[in-house]
Amino acid sequence: MPLGQSFSYSVPAALAERVCPGARVLCEFGRRKVTGVVLALHDAPPEGVDAAKLKPVVAVLDSEPVLPLELLRFLEELARYYLAPIGEVLRLALPAVEREVVRELEAQGSLLPGERPGHTKQVGRSVLVASATDVVEEPGKLRGQAAAVLAWLRANGPTGVAELEGRYGNARSALKKLTELGLASFEKRSVETGDLHDGRVERDAPPELVPAQRAAVARITEGFGRAESFLLFGITGSGKTEVYMHAIATARALGRGALVLVPEIALTPQLLGRFRARFGDEVGVLHSAMPETSRHRMWRKLRSGELRIAVGARSALFAPVRDLGLIIVDEEHDGSFKQEEGVRYHARDMALLRAHRASAVTVLGSATPSLESVALARRGKLVELSLPDRATQASLPKVEIIDLRRFGAGPTGEKLLSLPLHRALEKCLAAKEQAIIFLNRRGFAPAVLCGSCGTVQNCKLCSVALTFHRRDSSVRCHSCDFIGPLPPRCPDCGGELSLEGLGTERLESALERAFPEARIVRLDRDVAAGAKSGRIIERMRQGEIDILVGTQMVTKGHDLPRVTLVGVVNADSALSIPDFRASERGFQLLVQVAGRAGRHDRPGRVLIQTYNPEHPAVECAARHDVAGFLERELRDRSEAGYPPFRRMALVRISAVDEAEARTAAARLAAVARAATTEVEVLGPAPAPIARKRNRFRFRVLLRARERGPLRKVLAVLSRAVLDLPRDLRVVLDVDPVSML
Ligand code: ADP
Ligand code: ZN
Repeated sequence: MPLGQSFSYSVPAALAERVCPGARVLCEFGRRKVTGVVLALHDAPPEGVDAAKLKPVVAVLDSEPVLPLELLRFLEELARYYLAPIGEVLRLALPAVEREVVRELEAQGSLLPGERPGHTKQVGRSVLVASATDVVEEPGKLRGQAAAVLAWLRANGPTGVAELEGRYGNARSALKKLTELGLASFEKRSVETGDLHDGRVERDAPPELVPAQRAAVARITEGFGRAESFLLFGITGSGKTEVYMHAIATARALGRGALVLVPEIALTPQLLGRFRARFGDEVGVLHSAMPETSRHRMWRKLRSGELRIAVGARSALFAPVRDLGLIIVDEEHDGSFKQEEGVRYHARDMALLRAHRASAVTVLGSATPSLESVALARRGKLVELSLPDRATQASLPKVEIIDLRRFGAGPTGEKLLSLPLHRALEKCLAAKEQAIIFLNRRGFAPAVLCGSCGTVQNCKLCSVALTFHRRDSSVRCHSCDFIGPLPPRCPDCGGELSLEGLGTERLESALERAFPEARIVRLDRDVAAGAKSGRIIERMRQGEIDILVGTQMVTKGHDLPRVTLVGVVNADSALSIPDFRASERGFQLLVQVAGRAGRHDRPGRVLIQTYNPEHPAVECAARHDVAGFLERELRDRSEAGYPPFRRMALVRISAVDEAEARTAAARLAAVARAATTEVEVLGPAPAPIARKRNRFRFRVLLRARERGPLRKVLAVLSRAVLDLPRDLRVVLDVDPVSML
């Protein structure tokens, strides 16, 4: 259990030389011995503490600090910023193996001062991997972690047991139960599985930069002297990656290391291939789909300086890169940089902080920058660089809006496959080109409705409608991962059930019926996660797929030369989410997915279907008018008092008992109001998803012009939380991203 506070110990003379900040030590805590990380050394005991009463450090576990000082200080600052327990934050930065080594050695009873357990544990040659089988469980039989582990395996595919243990405390007993029921199985796999680092790559030579790229690279190079931060605003296909690689080359020429953060889905073999082709064996990849052993190996090599460039998703923010000189955040607007559980940090914001501490340069890159970054650029905190044209001479695709109020169903009879979209697909296929069709909903039908009484089937644990998945004829909750069989009739009145709405599964089968000759492949969380999604994108690149249908996963930065048609099935679903960022996110999604079309020699075409053709996000996306959208959205945010013009924090309160949650929320709101008048306190109000995993959810929104007063209120609240009944869960979400 990581602890919220730090504790003081005395250092015996024999250990004094080796106890230093960032080193792991073994200490007595109550009756147990626990691992700790040394935060700081003092010459005198803390005020009010009797030196004689301090317990001594028992042993030092590292010959060299496991965390470099730069990283340690950054973690402390991150913990302060998010009011998060320092123990939990340290946990983010230390791989599981490094944390657990001590427990093992203790069990062996072999720990002696001077030993170097961090270096004694061998990384195994094979790992134990668990997979879900095709067996369908009896509904309602699985509970707790067994159900959660099974859902994880089904969603993510085969997973290392060590990794599952990192995610679920009782993974082992859950897996035992699942194998007994025939629902999961084990196999040994070689460590290299999924390890994207291995394998030889041809080295490439950089192409000649276009003038805008050259200017950006020159400006970033200057920035190394002053440790500046940049916003690289370059349209889709403008060659941002090339600019990143030049910036990395500059950092390396100065003898410094680099960190590249990308959205999870962008970790396709293609992107990694590009980095490895340029920087060869200096690149280490940190990937959540990687087995824990490989990840640990990467971590070690980065820590030792054998690898100097780390590429990874959100959590790579904590990679122990030596002498960090550069941090790149690609697609900086992407929501996946915000962690939504545990320590709710934002990797983009924290990248700026870590770089600042390390006197490193930061480059935030996007075709659709976040309003936060745009505001920082306007305040002079980020230097804006722009790449206004595509690098390959290609022009931006032509975007047409299809007003769904005017166009009915096309030949398929499916309302959301309009005639213009149908015809465009025909043309694209006839020309032997490729299409991407984007729909925001996975599953077959997003609602199951009773034709007699009109009741919608809801999750028993969440205030969310169940989605029907045809593959296994199940109904699933996309909020809690509940899976059950589709009831034969309405459980309330016995009436006939009908499947309402359109998900990717249904769209895929409608397309299969309409275009029987086409090779159609679906890409969403149900068919692929992690490395498998990369393989689908790779098949698309190889021309083995004609139409790729999918969720957000198809919109991300892929560079697929033969894609000439992009269809957005329903632009409205993203725009109607109850969140002040809905418009911004919808816009980003439209521009990003449109940016997949016509990136090379053949011109692209984009069709956006919508019932709201006048919506600014739709209109601006159709005109490729990013600057216009930003201008408008900034004005709206300023008028409504939202970020980036206000600081916000969300207090999330939940309990199994509704009244208890409501009362606690009211109490915390009152505490916040009493604490200061400089912070606006909104609520309490039920969360937009009012119930999730059998807990009722309320929230209190704090809003202020400055960070100072907001922090003061948060500090008061974090103390008040300690007095609440145990069943209550309270989360302080600083700079919240999801409002749901
Ligand atoms: P972005 O990340 O900005 O969307 P990419 O970096 O993927 O764009 O570049 C788009 C395409 O342009 C890629 O195929 C890339 O190889 C190519 N490209 C980038 N820079 C140049 C250049 N200077 N000359 C020729 N092609 C380039
Ligand atoms: Zn649910």
